[in-house]
Amino acid sequence: MSGALRSVSPWDPADELGVFPSADAHAVDEAVGRARKAFPAWREAGFEARAAVLRRFADRARERAPELAELVAREVGKALWDARAEAGLLATKVDVTLDEGLRGVAPLEPAAGQRATYHPRGVLAVYGPFNFPAHLPNGHIVPALATGNTVVFKPSELAPAVGAWMARLWREAGLPVGVLEVVQGGAETGRALAAHEDVDGLLFTGSYAVGRALREATLDQPHKLLALELGGSSAVVVLADADLDLAVAESAFSICATTGQRCTSARRLFVERSVLEPFTEKLVGVLRGVSIGAPLDEGVFMGPLVSQQAFERVARERARAAEPGGERLLLVEPDLPSPYTGAGLVRFASTRQEHPYQREELFAPEAALYPVDDLDEAIAAVNDSDYGLAASVMTRDRRHYDHCVGRVRTGILNWNKGTVGASGRLPFGGIGKSGNDRPAGISAALYCTFVQSHLESDAGFDPASLPPGMPRP
Ligand code: NAD
Repeated sequence: MSGALRSVSPWDPADELGVFPSADAHAVDEAVGRARKAFPAWREAGFEARAAVLRRFADRARERAPELAELVAREVGKALWDARAEAGLLATKVDVTLDEGLRGVAPLEPAAGQRATYHPRGVLAVYGPFNFPAHLPNGHIVPALATGNTVVFKPSELAPAVGAWMARLWREAGLPVGVLEVVQGGAETGRALAAHEDVDGLLFTGSYAVGRALREATLDQPHKLLALELGGSSAVVVLADADLDLAVAESAFSICATTGQRCTSARRLFVERSVLEPFTEKLVGVLRGVSIGAPLDEGVFMGPLVSQQAFERVARERARAAEPGGERLLLVEPDLPSPYTGAGLVRFASTRQEHPYQREELFAPEAALYPVDDLDEAIAAVNDSDYGLAASVMTRDRRHYDHCVGRVRTGILNWNKGTVGASGRLPFGGIGKSGNDRPAGISAALYCTFVQSHLESDAGFDPASLPPGMPRP
């Protein structure tokens, strides 16, 4: 072990959630070794035995969701409504995986004598981000375990207590020793895990920069599965015929949920010129009124940013909005210490998006408004992004939305619903810098397995089947 992570609440310096030894390369090696040793028995245990453990985990997760919600609120500063929603998803993930998620890995039998079967890869490493420190790693862990893999889980270094809580719950549910190992730590621990030769795949949710680093770290191991869920710069299109109150409510929610720290947070709003003024006025009014405060207080919508470091980075980036010609319409500065912050809104005169302020993920409740003349200009503007995670189209006319389907290059495209929020019953993933085409959500079981194809026959030898020139045995 090298060093330790001390977890302190970002909004209450007196609230220390624990000290967690960081795993060095040796400790990572031992954890991977235990997971490797546990793999054959877990694979051979069969689906029903594994599902029974998963169901016990789900039952406990349901019972103890309030405890987890409070821990998430304390450790990463999520408002209670948001933390409760996240905590509730742990059990739902098990239900959905066992009911529907495994259909994607059911044997294929296209014709008599032809079959394909799906099998666990072995030891999978799961990396969690801080913004959904329980739900997102759980979204990899559950399908990985259900399909017979063992897991080495590295929680976010900003949420080690949540990671440790989850591991405890699995133990209490009766998961055999070694089937889920936890290694705490930051980048160094993550690198040691990624490079380990006995890890068969990396299931990662986090930033583009780290996703890229994982790709680089595994260049010499092209056989190692890499499933990357990365960042975003999500967009809302508001057409002239939209229900403006709905468009404002959905946009404000998508900008502010989780204090703008969601991969699907709305960052770019493309609004048809004829409704730009009324839309902007209503949106500014709503954003100004968002309640900001201590995450454990009922009625608070937004907690703080995750850390002082994040606060400083966001402040620096916000100050650059004027460089490409942005006009700041709003910056709410709550009467609270950093890292609390409020919503920001900046207007641009055209859809040109060349400056890093406009192109890079900010991870804060801050959006840019752009006027558009028609739907096709809006589609081109949405697609003018390095990312491709989520977009929404606000219109009363379904035909406008249908025109966007497939033309907007994002993994998620919603109609009259904001960019945040997703169904666990659907695939979840993005294109461009948002991932590497291995969608999670309902599709996650697929990347947890390898496929074996079979030609099968119980017929005896038929001499007529021999090609000319091939002698009979
Ligand atoms: P991050 O990339 O900083 O960290 C993610 C994980 O990678 C952490 O566990 C971290 O310790 C680890 N890590 C850091 N450096 C590493 C390295 N060199 N090698 C191996 N591991 C390393 O992400 P974050 O700040 O915790 O989370 C926010 C990011 O996650 C945002 O970019 C957000 O958009 C993205 N995200 C994406 C999705 C999605 O589903 N697409 C969902 C949530 C968050």
